[in-house]
Amino acid sequence: MNQYYYNLPPKPQSFAPPTQKKLLKDQYEVLQIELGSGTYGKVKLALNHTIKKKFAIKIISKSYMKQIFATQHILNELNYLQACKHKNIVEYIEHFEDRDNIYIVLEYCKHGTLNDLIRKRNKLTEEEAFHYFYQIAQAILYLHEKDIIHRDIKADNILLQNSDVKVCDFNWSTFLPNGGKAKPCICGTTEYMPPEVIRKEIHDKGVDIWALGVLLYYMLHGELLFRAKQKEELYEKICSKQPIKFNENLSKECLLLLQQMLAHQKRINIQQVLNSNWVIKMLRCKNNSSVLRLTPIKCRSSAQESTRFSVVSDSTYFSSSKFTAKSQDIEPSEKQGNISQGTQDQNPKKVKSSALDQNNPAFRVEKKYCS
Ligand code: ADP
Repeated sequence: MNQYYYNLPPKPQSFAPPTQKKLLKDQYEVLQIELGSGTYGKVKLALNHTIKKKFAIKIISKSYMKQIFATQHILNELNYLQACKHKNIVEYIEHFEDRDNIYIVLEYCKHGTLNDLIRKRNKLTEEEAFHYFYQIAQAILYLHEKDIIHRDIKADNILLQNSDVKVCDFNWSTFLPNGGKAKPCICGTTEYMPPEVIRKEIHDKGVDIWALGVLLYYMLHGELLFRAKQKEELYEKICSKQPIKFNENLSKECLLLLQQMLAHQKRINIQQVLNSNWVIKMLRCKNNSSVLRLTPIKCRSSAQESTRFSVVSDSTYFSSSKFTAKSQDIEPSEKQGNISQGTQDQNPKKVKSSALDQNNPAFRVEKKYCS
């Protein structure tokens, strides 16, 4: 029998000390330079004069957040950002709030998104695509080992810092310990959604593998695998089992990996992705030009119980999407979590996140809004 878990997050690795009196404006000068805009607000460049460093600040309007029933998503974002520390995941610094907004301070990734890069370059070679793919897969491995599924892996959510990749946007993430399954829920971005999500079935870590496959396809072909003018048409295309047309010049190892990641049934897991012949082959090629170390990756699936060695580089030099599932797509919950709803102060204060409190009812909301 399947077990269901409702988004109870892992305990955070570390808490920023609660410095209630610290104000955003005392520490950061928010510049009028917009880095991007997302589903819930704008992201601006900010300067910390004390340490003379630039940061990205995500500004979320509380009234808009409530209007679109997105409080849970913002709590999610804060929770998972705080719980995750990995070189391929955007670093959470701290957050503030005032009467009107929530401000999430993040490390600044100055080279845009992977989507910008693919659009600029049209398509990438296997070597180039691998460079990004491998780092994203490392971030997913880290998340999946912590039983977290991201659920919105896409080119717009991959930030670039020089040639380092940083996964961002944890709005849709969920925690599924002990092989648990998530309840049916339209989540993420349609172009990257697997058939089981579209068919409103229970789902698991395979959601991220499918999205990673769609992303690899996008990097190698310069266009998304599934495109349509209407959402319903897109749903049909994703769920149809028509054979996928791949670029004829792809290596057979790459083709096989794409097929295994985009399988409707028996999709491979992230350990198997990292142990695939394509990954091993590409790492061997890189081996000629960089110092590599061998790291055992345990294959947990019953299909492949062995422990193989995958090569991990120390010097890891290593929207396209029209339809993002917003909170409107889901049933509003009366039990949306609050981020200090009563705060009346005009000056944004640094806050200790209640999002990390496992007793916070907000983390059980998914049970209600997934139909
Ligand atoms: P939302 O969760 O509201 O969809 P995102 O986290 O996806 O917002 O951010 C929206 C956009 O802002 C990104 O696609 C990117 O262009 C920009 N952005 C977000 N975080 C950063 C960052 N840390 N550094 C630089 N740009 C960022």
